Amino acid sequence: MIIVYVDHDRGEIDPLAFQVVSAARNLDSDVHALVVGNNAEKCADELGNFGIRTVHHGTNDKLADYKPMASARAVLDAMERLSPRAVFAAGTPRGSEVLAHVAAIADLPLVTECSAIEITGADTAEVTRARWGGNLLERSKVSSAVLLATIQAHAFVATEAPGAAQIEAFEVPLTDADVVVGIVDRTGAEATGVGLAEAKVVISGGRGMDGPEAFALLEELAEILGGAVGCSRVVTSAGWRPHAEQVGQTGTKVAPELYLAFGISGATQHIAGCKSAKTLIAVNTDGQAPIMTHADYAVVDNLHTLLPVLIEKARAAKGA
Ligand code: FAD
Repeated sequence: MIIVYVDHDRGEIDPLAFQVVSAARNLDSDVHALVVGNNAEKCADELGNFGIRTVHHGTNDKLADYKPMASARAVLDAMERLSPRAVFAAGTPRGSEVLAHVAAIADLPLVTECSAIEITGADTAEVTRARWGGNLLERSKVSSAVLLATIQAHAFVATEAPGAAQIEAFEVPLTDADVVVGIVDRTGAEATGVGLAEAKVVISGGRGMDGPEAFALLEELAEILGGAVGCSRVVTSAGWRPHAEQVGQTGTKVAPELYLAFGISGATQHIAGCKSAKTLIAVNTDGQAPIMTHADYAVVDNLHTLLPVLIEKARAAKGA
């Protein structure tokens, strides 16, 4: 049996979880999901479409919203009762945080950012995992009766297998110390429109945008093309855009059909987040910028003059 820890935000499942479930189903026909907190029914409905038949639901009065240590306690409780061969989570900040707690408490090895997994024996496995922002692929042998692994974003395709999942609720034993860290407030704009991680079109801006104002043009273009806005770390560090929009090694990893990069130089840490794009178009005044070598189409131009023209053309083409 493999357990997949499924992260959700108030009932909205992180879409990468479906990729993790599919990766687990490639290895074992007996894959269970584990969700923690409120909205388990909504999660179970969606997970049923991806081949999950049992959703273990960790409950506790103290567990309405995400709390990393409490989620880890739920995983540990399920591990003790169900003795899985492996526990997987998405290689997101939350998935990594929860499994890191599990590994530390259970004194087990944790392999992160896996793009291939082979279970080779009762307590042996071989994994391929991304290191150095995906520039190095490491093949590791893991000796552990329970394989703890996070899965690299977009390394596996989410495959549907429609059916119904039943919920098995269990009380998570928690101490006050387990709920010290949690979400106390949400500030900034509520996420609207298309989510960055699953968007088919991502339109990103970097330092070359020269400030937060020009991002209104990216939003306009994104709306016409049905896409999401992304950005580089310089942009989030400057406070021009929220961290949730950062693409890269320490941001979101995207795999859209089309990635448009405006005024982004193409540092390895940024490319780590967008190299799975089917088509990359870079707009930069510097034809020698590193991103130009990664781009399918490299446009040497000033984004401030190009963007209004592009918006007009896109609007005309879409009849919008
Ligand atoms: P710059 O490198 O300054 O590039 C700006 C580009 O805009 C230049 O190429 C310039 O020619 C072009 N430009 C300027 N004006 C115009 C114009 N008018 N029209 C068109 N082009 C123009 N970065 C990320 O993005 N994501 C990450 O997740 C991330 N993680 C990191 C993790 C670590 C541990 C470290 C050390 C760094 C990380 N970084 C990350 C930062 C990364 O190294 C770069 O500093 C960053 O990506 C650069 O952002 P940028 O391309 O917007 O800015």
